[in-house]
Amino acid sequence: MATFPLPFIPTLSYKTGGRRFGANRDGGKRKHAACDLIAPKGTEIYAVENGKVTYGPYLFYRGTYAIEFRLDSGKVVRYCEIEKVASGIAVGSTLTEGTLIAYVGKMYVDSMLHFELYNGSGTGSLTVRSNSPYQRRSDLINPTDYLDGCALLGAVQYPVGCALPGP
Ligand SMILES: [Zn+2]
Repeated sequence: MATFPLPFIPTLSYKTGGRRFGANRDGGKRKHAACDLIAPKGTEIYAVENGKVTYGPYLFYRGTYAIEFRLDSGKVVRYCEIEKVASGIAVGSTLTEGTLIAYVGKMYVDSMLHFELYNGSGTGSLTVRSNSPYQRRSDLINPTDYLDGCALLGAVQYPVGCALPGP
């Protein structure tokens, strides 16, 4: 099971409103290519699985940054609208699931992690303006089910019927 990228599940659902994957943008001219995880500026962002940083950080949107990494499973993840990466994180960094990678950034009003997921079959830039409606590489996938399947960092899974540890 993958680790959720934030230390908590956002109160504002990433499955509804303008935060959801596929929500209209620019009056319907394009669609939202990610799930937006609303969180205070500076919130820690973790690696969802083991992988390696492939690109970034680079300027993304309104003074925030993006970083890309490839999971050992082959999927590609892009964390966008981040404030900065964590100390020691750069291209080539090996990521262990749960590693602190970056911090949530703030645009004019909102602060969030814009979470994009790709199946990894594509090559080249993840942003492809000519590829409507998402304006992303063709191997973009809806990350909603993936995020739903993540466990919070530090959440201990006990087998069914197992006694919880005492005080
Ligand atoms: Zn977004």
